[in-house]
Amino acid sequence: MLANEVTSLLDHLGVSADRRTGARAVRSPLTGKTIGHVQDASQQDAAETIALAEAAFRRWREVPPPRRGELVRLLGHELRAARDALGRLVTIEAGKIVSEGRGEVQEMIDICDFAVGLSRQLYGLTIASERPHHRMMEQWHPLGPAGVITSFNFPVAVWSWNAALALVCGNPVIWKPSEKTPLTALAVQTLFERAAVRAGNIPHGLCTVLLGGRDVGEVLVNDPRVPLVSATGSTAMGREVGTQLARRFGRSILELGGNNGSIVCPSANLDLALRAIAFAAIGTAGQRCTTLRRLFVHDSIHDEFMARLKRVYASVRIGDPLKSDEVLVGPLIDAAAFENMQRALKEARAHGAQVHGGERVDEKQFPDAYYVRPALVEMPAQTGPVLVETFAPILYVMKYTDLDAAIEQHNAVAHGLSSSIFSTDMREVETFLSVAGSDCGIVNANIGPSGAEIGGAFGGEKETGGGREAGSDAWKAYMRRVTSTVNYGDDLPLAQGVRFDI
Ligand code: NAD
Repeated sequence: MLANEVTSLLDHLGVSADRRTGARAVRSPLTGKTIGHVQDASQQDAAETIALAEAAFRRWREVPPPRRGELVRLLGHELRAARDALGRLVTIEAGKIVSEGRGEVQEMIDICDFAVGLSRQLYGLTIASERPHHRMMEQWHPLGPAGVITSFNFPVAVWSWNAALALVCGNPVIWKPSEKTPLTALAVQTLFERAAVRAGNIPHGLCTVLLGGRDVGEVLVNDPRVPLVSATGSTAMGREVGTQLARRFGRSILELGGNNGSIVCPSANLDLALRAIAFAAIGTAGQRCTTLRRLFVHDSIHDEFMARLKRVYASVRIGDPLKSDEVLVGPLIDAAAFENMQRALKEARAHGAQVHGGERVDEKQFPDAYYVRPALVEMPAQTGPVLVETFAPILYVMKYTDLDAAIEQHNAVAHGLSSSIFSTDMREVETFLSVAGSDCGIVNANIGPSGAEIGGAFGGEKETGGGREAGSDAWKAYMRRVTSTVNYGDDLPLAQGVRFDI
């Protein structure tokens, strides 16, 4: 029974029994059945946790950054040892195939490694002053407790993108995971605590987890003792969180929905494009923020390419990913996701679409779980459901004749997360990457829009929220920038030649 396996995984990962009891039932999308129980945090728990984080901040900000990095190194060590068990728990709780569950933990390890190096590279600038005997510099100071609100579909990696950077930057972290995936959060919290014991002398309350729904998230959003909230989830959530934070001048990192597109040009390597598109559109059962949802295919290759795509869609193996490594598509997260998918397909038909797939499979075997055949939808134009993100495996395919017009269509949606072009014509590729090309935060060539590495800054524009996480200089969002001017002379020249003689 799945619940027994979950119990032994949580035992193996060291999650204490008192953490695994409570009123909230946790269910697995693999079966739809209950796999455990947890207790949601009360408003008072949340307030106390924030107070603890505030106290931890006073100590942690004084710890030299490379020593903070040592804690993150030890966390990476714990994650390496726990990779298979935690990855399997991700599969059970979020429904991903086994290699993706494990891959998510690998991503946590990668960002820990990155953050350890970063802990010695929190560089500021020295700036040329216009005044004699003056020096200007930029310093980066810790900001304060970071609230991290995460979505169900990356139940552990998104926390680590935030936490690894926030910790080396000198900030405590308070995590409000998705109410759909609390067990993986408890497992990660346990691994963190083990790393903290090994590191020694880590302030109590440096990293904490608050289970619960949006009401618990709202406590973080509304409390001025939390100067930064990084929120990952739907655009509807980000619109509320962003507005509430702005009202109190809190900082936000918003990582919201995507409606990602790719363009397949006549010169593309079609074998490569087919594989990339299949992974990006079908992988994770279409439940990635970077999932490919809109495909523009040049009319000269459209029919041939569609025929190949249809064969892939008809043959891809769907089912319980724990049963076979050949399964490439696991379940949708819940009944609501299935209903949203069916609604979008119905609407597409009303807009003149031809729909292939999209039906429920294995319903008899799993009456409480939602396995679906990914849907390939031939759309006459980019209208109706194509314009919004439906968090399910639906790929809308449209024809194009002129690349500039295709790019315009590509950009004519509310989201701006990820995008890609398939072409071996350097002018087409460079146009797509240029200022006149894709308007997204991630713009790829000859790979799909999903499956980012941690080394680059991750995030997108428009209704995706504008936040950036993970690599490059995303760490700056977790710090307070200070500009300092030092006068080492005996005069007091004023900037811009202003005179003020007293
Ligand atoms: P969701 O918006 O339903 O929930 C996300 C989190 O926000 C949960 O923890 C939830 O409890 C919390 N929440 C919801 N409303 C809140 C509020 N008003 N105040 C505070 N917290 C609140 O999203 P989901 O269904 O878990 O995830 C799917 C969505 O997440 C998709 O839209 C997907 O594109 C997006 N996503 C984006 C990224 C990214 O990096 N851009 C990554 C993963 C997922």
